[in-house]
Amino acid sequence: MPGRKELPHHGHAPEDVLETMRRMRREDADWEDGKVWCLVYNAGEDLSAFLKEAYGLFFSENALNPSAFPSLKRMEAEAVSMAASLLGGDDQVVGNMTSGGTESILMAVKTAREWARVHKPRVKVPKIVLPSSAHPAFPKACHYFGLEPIWVPVGPDFRADPKAMRKAVTRDTVLIVGSAPSYPQGVVDPIEEIAAIAKKNGILCHVDSCVGGMMLPFVRALGYDVPPFDFSVDGVTTMSVDLHKYGYAAKGASVILHRTPELRKHQYFAFTDWSGGIYASPTMTGTRPGGAIAAAWAIMNRLGFDGYLEIARKVMDTTDLLRDGINAIDGVEVLGEPAMSVMSIGSQTHDIYEIGDEMTARGWHIDRQQHPNSLHLTINHSHLSSAAQFLEDLSAAVAATEPLSQRDILKEKAKAAALKAAVTVLPERVVSKATEVISGAMGLVGDGGELPERSAAMYGMIATLPNRGDIHKFVIDALDQMTRLDPNNIIAIAGDAPDAEEE
Ligand SMILES: *Cc1c(COP(=O)(O)O)cnc(C)c1O
Repeated sequence: MPGRKELPHHGHAPEDVLETMRRMRREDADWEDGKVWCLVYNAGEDLSAFLKEAYGLFFSENALNPSAFPSLKRMEAEAVSMAASLLGGDDQVVGNMTSGGTESILMAVKTAREWARVHKPRVKVPKIVLPSSAHPAFPKACHYFGLEPIWVPVGPDFRADPKAMRKAVTRDTVLIVGSAPSYPQGVVDPIEEIAAIAKKNGILCHVDSCVGGMMLPFVRALGYDVPPFDFSVDGVTTMSVDLHKYGYAAKGASVILHRTPELRKHQYFAFTDWSGGIYASPTMTGTRPGGAIAAAWAIMNRLGFDGYLEIARKVMDTTDLLRDGINAIDGVEVLGEPAMSVMSIGSQTHDIYEIGDEMTARGWHIDRQQHPNSLHLTINHSHLSSAAQFLEDLSAAVAATEPLSQRDILKEKAKAAALKAAVTVLPERVVSKATEVISGAMGLVGDGGELPERSAAMYGMIATLPNRGDIHKFVIDALDQMTRLDPNNIIAIAGDAPDAEEE
């Protein structure tokens, strides 16, 4: 069998292709039963059907050239304006839709670099000061665009530490970052203090509201305490807000907002000498799917403030139930004070990764976090009915896990040290095997596609390895393996010859 899949010589019947896809889907995490605590934001079947219809209406259109499709131009501008007005923006605030939070953040960082070329021309390598909880899209942007991230540890409450951030600002700093809220613990950084540092130093300030921008305004309207975090705060210059998270839009929809049109010009790219014509593009991508813009515009108009508020009410009721329920279980606790429906679970007495394994064995799909070790929950509509079962299972999972003794802790450390020594001397073949295990443990792939069963040991190792360089190499290696074709596992299209059937 060749180590590749070739384009079939003759096409398959459409129903066979679709049936094969349905079959493959059965191996995927089943988020509809409310057991997946990441990756999917869904507000129920009715709204999904509505989104698909809206997306389908603009299935073929391309927002690369706004003049060809004035409909998309209007919908984009209106979606941006709706997001801006929700986030304290006046009529000076402008923005664009992007494919997601990462692209929005890339655009904010690119803007800061170009802005600095004009306003801080002496800076050679521009620096970004950001809390240790900031999303990896920021170091990714630095990696892509040649800036340097300056990481500042968060405080004991997991919020950004403005005093330490102020000290980290130098003449080369062009941008300072806060999250509302941060992804790992769901806490809102002290944006007023962070923005004040920006203002005082004459630099830019980005608020990452990717996960919170379409939730916090409604959480506040419900009466919860939400500190100022948006354009109402003096000094905030750009914001990112994802519509495909708590905006419940179809995937591929986020907004990057700028305080002024002047600032946004630094985001843009134009090439005037191409033989294909004068080319200009607002964001990273060339072709921009019209469907994603249309679906986002559609859901915002369909739900309105009331609709979002109603969903937020249910989600926050579930969040309160979960938070209180988790804190009532001896051995686990919610870390920090999450401002909305994103939170993490840690433990002082148990190996939280082992508890995570027990939850995996009970069918739950939960992300593992580090610094400190914890499990992550993003609560949304699909969890309204599964929260009670979650608490019951969490309680059982803690009971099934041995509390850590002092000796256990030492043993774990010794094991990690031994593994660390092994890493540097392992031959390539063994490293690849270890990589396979790690990638399984990361929850990215499992043997045969199912979710991994036991990951605590590997996670313990990852968290304690002193040399982050080894882990970086491991993870890049794992990514390489994961994104390759597995020649032994090429899917047989339904209706193929019988010898190609699944086992
Ligand atoms: C999800 C998220 C991002 C990145 O968004 P993508 O849509 O995954 O690219 C950035 N920041 C925060 C806080 C997020 O939660």
